[in-house]
Order: sequence, then structure tokens, then C-alpha cells
Amino acid sequence: MQEPEGQDSKIPVDDLPLVSLTTLPCASNLEHQIYFLGEQSSSDHGCWPPMQLRIPYTAPLPPATILPATASTITGAVAALANFLRPPSAGHGKTVILSGAGISVASGLADYRGSNGTYTLNKTYRPVYYHEFCANHEARKRYWARSFLGWTTLHKSRPNKAHFAVGQLGELGTLSKVITQNVDSFHLMAHPKLKTLELHGYLRNTVCLSCRTEYSRERFQEDLADLNPAWAVFLAEMLETGALSTEEPAERRRRGLKTNPDGDVDVPGVEYGTFRYPACPVCLSGPPEGTKVEQDSDGAWLPSSTAGILKPAVIMFGESIPNAVKLAVEDAVDEADRILVLGSSLATYSAWRLIKRAQEQGKPVGVANLGGVRGEEQFFSKVPVNGFGRDGVRCSLPLEEVMPALVDRLRLGGAPPLISETFRPAPWGR
Ligand SMILES: [Zn+2]
Repeated sequence: MQEPEGQDSKIPVDDLPLVSLTTLPCASNLEHQIYFLGEQSSSDHGCWPPMQLRIPYTAPLPPATILPATASTITGAVAALANFLRPPSAGHGKTVILSGAGISVASGLADYRGSNGTYTLNKTYRPVYYHEFCANHEARKRYWARSFLGWTTLHKSRPNKAHFAVGQLGELGTLSKVITQNVDSFHLMAHPKLKTLELHGYLRNTVCLSCRTEYSRERFQEDLADLNPAWAVFLAEMLETGALSTEEPAERRRRGLKTNPDGDVDVPGVEYGTFRYPACPVCLSGPPEGTKVEQDSDGAWLPSSTAGILKPAVIMFGESIPNAVKLAVEDAVDEADRILVLGSSLATYSAWRLIKRAQEQGKPVGVANLGGVRGEEQFFSKVPVNGFGRDGVRCSLPLEEVMPALVDRLRLGGAPPLISETFRPAPWGR
């Protein structure tokens, strides 16, 4: 098991890796996605394709420098963002959004970096890597057991005001597409008509490693419950006590949810090794040539099988982002006139790289994220402190407040110039 190199604060930004994310139920109230990304392979630095999965960049980031300075309040940030999206020139052009975990915090999902994030709550958490998942029956049992406990809370979570505001900005004609690092499907739920590209996949489906058929994760949950009745009883108890809906370890323990030193939930009287999961139905009925798929009398996949393994349809650590997705997000950046980051610290290389790409094309960059953003000084080096937002915006305020207010402002007739923009001091006053 390689060490999580992304945690080395000395790794230069350019060497930081890629991204992927996995789900883990025990550190948050849900199967929240952990954007543990950061992959990179030293040999192909700067190129996208072959990336090895690494844990993301977790070193502390410097605090944000707010730009323009007036964007330190909701009113000021809204004015600057309105100018950013609709610069007062002929032809506003379109903005592509890049969203991360921060936009889903108001939906009850944890931002892994945030004050209640995985890193602070569960320092022993270790994600399952793609190669482990593919090769190791035991790793899959552990993954699915955790996922089984975390799914319900995620499944009950819904998009929040910020997601809906993104859809409204789309209706106002300001946006081209949305790229998201999130796997919660909230953008698709909130604005089905505005195209969303899911950089790290999605939790709503499972996918067969052999035939690539996708299946509903919701239905899969029912199969897991049928195959693991003791776990299903335990899950029902934990949902009853509310232990899965709090992030506080002490409170979780008080409500009956204990974890072992590895961060796994302790289910009384049950071992992780007993967890069972089903095989791919398509491969079961017609295994790919040269393979066999076997199940026990209850329908659980047997390790004598050589195919038919189901994986969450998210990009796991160590897994490459599909080429079609990489090309689609690059095209989205290339086609847009500017890019706006919502709720991402760009800790994963695949996300950070898109912003770099936009900047290299001379496109304005906006970032609305609570807390620091990896490498942000270089994105804003040419943005004036006393500007109006059209050249770039950096704010650090709650998205569920800023975004609806931004929609209201644009609906009221675009982006009225700031007072400081219309006031021209007399020449002798300078
Ligand atoms: Zn299959």
C-alpha cells in the first residue's frame, strides 16, 4: 500500500495528482464522497491520461485574498459576481461552472476539508483503492459494508439553494455547462436542462467491471439488505437512533455507533468478512467468454468467479477518468468565456488543471469557496484589488446565500455598475 503522497505539503502544485473519490459512511453522516484525489504519475506530469490515484492535497491552505476587496460581504460578492458573469461590454459570453464538495455542504454532506470534514473527524480513514477493489474480495466486502451503512443518508439528501441557483443562472443565459467533482447527482436533480459533466462519476449507479452494464444503486441497496440481514437490522437501529445523521464521533458513540481503530463501524456480533454482495445479473446469465460467474444459494457473488463484479460508478483512487469525460470537460472549458469555481479547494489535480487551462487561455477565473484554494495566488495575480469583478472574483462566503442573491440581482436587470465605477473624481481631486 503506497503512502498517500498527496498529503506531503512539500509536493509542488504542479506535481499534485489527480482525483477520484470514494464513499465512506463512517466519517460523515453519509456515504459522503471524499474527493480524495490527487493522482499523478511522476512520469507523465502535466498530461492527463495515465494517472495513478493518490490521496489528495491535504496540507493547510493559506486563507483567501478576497478580490475585489468589496467582495468580502454578501452584497459586495454578489455585485462582483454579477459583473463577472455579465461584464458590461457587448456580448457577455458564457461561463462554465466547476463545483466541488463545498456546494453540497448545505445539503448535509461533508466537505472533506472543512471544519467537520473527514480529515478532521476520522484521521484513520483509509479509502479503498481501485486496484484493491478490483483484485480483492475482502476489500470489496469492506467497501460495500461501509457503503451499505452510509447510503441511506446520502440517498435522502437533496440539492440545496445553491444548486437551484445554478440552474436559474443557466435559465438567465449566463452559463454554458456545469462540471462537477461531486458524485451526489445534485446538479442533475436541480437543473436537468443545464448540462452537467460529472468529472468523478456518480454514486447513483453501480457498474460491472466486466460488461460495463450499470445498475441502480438504490436497487443494489435492497439486494445488500437481503444478503446481509444482520447488517440490515443494525442499519435500521442506527437510523432509528440518529447515529448516522451526526458527524460527531462522541455523539455517534453515544447513539450506539462505534468504530474500530481502522475507522470501520463495529457491528455487534458481525464481522466485515461476512458481508455479501450480488453479482452482475448480465454476466451471471451470460458470462463473458473465458470467464465464469458463480453465486451462492442466496445470490451472493462467489470468489470462485472470474467476472461479474459490481463497482460504484464513481472514479476511485487509482482509477483513471474515462477519456470521453476528460475530453468533454476540456471542451467545456475551451468553449466557455470564463470559469467560476463553486465550493472547491481544487485539491485534486484534475480540477486544478482545468482552472489552469482556462487561465492559460486568458480567461477570467472566479472562485467562491469557503477557505483557501490550492495555488490560488497564481490565478488572481493580475486581478486588481479595487476592480469590479469582471477580471476575476475571489470570495469566501456561504454559497447558499451568495448564489440565490446573485440570481435575484441578475434578474433585476443585469449588473448595475458599482458606485465606485460611476463616480469619477474631478481631475484636481486625484
Ligand atoms: Zn456484467
